[in-house]
Amino acid sequence: MRPDDHDDLDPKDWPATRAQAHRMLDDMLDYVEHVRQRPVWRPIPEAVKAGIRAPLPRRPTDLAEVHDEFLRLVLPYATGNVHPGFMGWVHGGGSVAGMLGEMLAAGLNANLGGREHMPIEVERQILRWLAPLFGMSEGAGGLFVTGSSMANFMAILVARTGALGPEVRRLGLQGAKLTAYASASVHGCVRRGMEMAGLGGDALRAVPVDREGRMDLRALLEAVRADRAAGMRPFLAVGTAGTVDTGAIDPLDGIADAARAEGLWFHVDGAYGALAVLSPGLAPRLAGIGRADSIALDFHKWGQVPYDAGYLLVRDGALQQRTFAQPAVYLGRERRGLAAGSPWPCDFGPDLSRGFRALKTWFVLKVYGTERLGAMIGHTCALAQYLKARVQASPELELMAPVALNIVCFRRRGPDPDRLNRQVVEDLHEAGLPAPSTTTLDGHLAIRAAIVNHRTQPRDIDALVDAVLAHPGILEASEDKDGAR
Ligand SMILES: *Cc1c(COP(=O)(O)O)cnc(C)c1O
Repeated sequence: MRPDDHDDLDPKDWPATRAQAHRMLDDMLDYVEHVRQRPVWRPIPEAVKAGIRAPLPRRPTDLAEVHDEFLRLVLPYATGNVHPGFMGWVHGGGSVAGMLGEMLAAGLNANLGGREHMPIEVERQILRWLAPLFGMSEGAGGLFVTGSSMANFMAILVARTGALGPEVRRLGLQGAKLTAYASASVHGCVRRGMEMAGLGGDALRAVPVDREGRMDLRALLEAVRADRAAGMRPFLAVGTAGTVDTGAIDPLDGIADAARAEGLWFHVDGAYGALAVLSPGLAPRLAGIGRADSIALDFHKWGQVPYDAGYLLVRDGALQQRTFAQPAVYLGRERRGLAAGSPWPCDFGPDLSRGFRALKTWFVLKVYGTERLGAMIGHTCALAQYLKARVQASPELELMAPVALNIVCFRRRGPDPDRLNRQVVEDLHEAGLPAPSTTTLDGHLAIRAAIVNHRTQPRDIDALVDAVLAHPGILEASEDKDGAR
């Protein structure tokens, strides 16, 4: 029996939905336009958390009503990284062009796993733009992924294929004792990547760093040679372009030399720092990144593309393909029609269904242009130098690490400084003031301000320093703001 037409999920009243959609867009634009007037962050009242707990909705709710709930329960209690005063961790600020690109991508609902359609050409275009920025050419492979945690993991897998050949996929490690090398300040996701790759976290050797937090090249070579003498098989050296703790940049050129001399894969974790190549003033500091075999980077940090938009770039795209593609599948692809266009993005990584992260990135790159993005990145580093100068000019404050890029680690002097500075940061957060985070350097707690947001201005730096100096007077000082909430 032929069923009746059914009630699909599209609006019944298109004009009303259109008006509501415009209201939602306006609300979000208002949020971004006036974000400076809000507290950076605020504690979430129990009633708000309770408000979101509800049974699985079995019956429909009006779109406008759900949006109101979002405005009441979610929007005011976000992380705060859109705010110019957000300096915690290494979070990007996002951008209006990126947000709008994301909206269009959601409307198109493209699946970028494969097949023959223009969205995939957009992703390929990002690769064509990116590869030459990092000294790579035609044969390079690239792929959008969630973030650099995933990109670093995948790079380890590609390097593993490079060392053991694609048979490793079928046969496993077969006792191969692969060892990898990274500085002691490498991001934790690299060790986790080694764990997930079945190589073992301990097979990642922590190479000591110098006083600037940069990998000690002599120690790298010593570690590689000692391992080789002990019957291990060194296969990978990871350099970091901008550590999360202090923004230190490893001597990438030196690591490239060592990797070449020792036959190692040279991977760069450029999660937040790699895009500094767009700033003419900063690019020379990344010298050697153009010799990497692979690079992990995030457009969602300095690139100001809304989350998430991580990227893996691999010089030898064919090797990347041999690491992930299922030959029986891709060799059987069609030559014409919608099922053509092989190889597909799903041949270069573990995901089959993939969203259109490339579109918001394409919008950001085109709308702002790389000169403006590079200048913005340079500006965040100038703000870091300004913060450093203010710290050094205040007898109550102390700089805790060299300022290489856009991260400043400092603390208030005083008895029991770890406790004091933890309290300062927590009080700043709860007062809705400029929000740095903390980190531990040589066993000491430091206030860490990472200036990643393109909206941050010198007055935000002043507000941070003034609040740290005024502590514990900051909570009262912010009462006015509380009243306005
Ligand atoms: C942020 C960051 C990572 C992790 O990247 P995600 O995008 O958060 O997964 C890794 N390494 C460095 C240096 C980072 O800054």
